[in-house]
Amino acid sequence: METYFPSDHGYDEQRGGFQTAFQHRPAVIFAVEDADDVRKAVRYAADHDLDLTVQNTGHGTQHTRDGGVLITTGRMTGVRVDPGRRTARVEAGALWHHVITAAAPHGLVPLSGSAPDVGVVGYSLRGGIGLLAREFGYARDHVRDVESVDGVVTALEIALFPVARIFGGHLIFDAADEVFDTFRSWTAHAPDTVTTSIGIVGDAVHVRFASTVELDMAVWCGIAAREDTVGWMPYTESGDIYRDPTTPHGYYGDNVLLSDLTPEVLAAVRAPSDVFIIVDIRHMGGALGEPRYLLRLISPLGDKDSVRAAHDRIFAVARPWTVGCEESLVYGPH
Ligand SMILES: Cc1cc2nc3c(=O)[nH]c(=O)nc-3n(C[C@H](O)[C@H](O)[C@H](O)COP(=O)(O)OP(=O)(O)OC[C@H]3O[C@@H](n4cnc5c(N)ncnc54)[C@H](O)[C@@H]3O)c2cc1C
Repeated sequence: METYFPSDHGYDEQRGGFQTAFQHRPAVIFAVEDADDVRKAVRYAADHDLDLTVQNTGHGTQHTRDGGVLITTGRMTGVRVDPGRRTARVEAGALWHHVITAAAPHGLVPLSGSAPDVGVVGYSLRGGIGLLAREFGYARDHVRDVESVDGVVTALEIALFPVARIFGGHLIFDAADEVFDTFRSWTAHAPDTVTTSIGIVGDAVHVRFASTVELDMAVWCGIAAREDTVGWMPYTESGDIYRDPTTPHGYYGDNVLLSDLTPEVLAAVRAPSDVFIIVDIRHMGGALGEPRYLLRLISPLGDKDSVRAAHDRIFAVARPWTVGCEESLVYGPH
């Protein structure tokens, strides 16, 4: 195990994560390689009366900490698949693509989300709304076993699902009323076997699909798409459905859970804004239970107050249909 103090070469790289706007500044970093290392780091924190923080990829940093001990788990990437029990034992630093790759030869998939480079433990502990979430539910509900040392998870055993391939992909459209109208009617009638979302990125509207059965795409075929990748694909290519960013950057993100996706909410997310906002509306329901939609707003972090004000203007319109917030998808201080 390596340790890093602020004056050490490699300290900034070790504390840095995917989120560059909110980063920890610990007094010491323990880059752990196994559960024994975690035990040593925990003991060091207790002996020196220091706070303890854990980081894997840094995708989900909400509150930063100055001082204290930071445990980084990125070197613990072991994954062991048990095809008979349809489970995987996943070490603390493993990313979704490690599990997807290990499970694929057995015709099994995990409940991973849009980005294959997100950490399994951080995602699964907080909830985990995956590509196939409406069929199988939250990832946290399929954690079979937790190995931990004083609250620091060293490994999880998670369930895997027999899915040989998925019918999915994305359609990219110009922002037209009929795309949003079709999304509303599609999600009103979609079976639980399909999980769909709609996103606004600049002047383009992305509709993403992931399903374990073939979809009848007739209602979408009448709208001219800029790009259409929908079809059967191996789950190992599921990262192509969202094409989430892979380069570290600063971002702020918040969300609300909605009982309905009304014309008022859609007008608010489509209204021009002085702040660049990526909108992501996920169809919930099915095995996720109520509510029916999740509205996420994510912005590259420039002036934090302007970003928050722009997001709050949209969330204010959505308030009559707001029934909660998905804490796992908050980026930066809430
Ligand atoms: C581009 C992008 C796409 C995403 N897509 C989805 C999605 O489709 N569905 C979804 O549900 N979420 C999604 N998320 C959210 C993501 O699941 C959360 O941000 C998650 O917490 C990230 O976990 P991490 O380990 O990668 O990140 P980290 O920031 O390293 O960890 C997140 C949290 O988990 C804690 N943690 C990490 N490891 C341990 C451990 N071993 N023991 C104890 N605590 C630990 C950390 O202290 C931190 O509080 C996405 C996030 C991004 C940035």
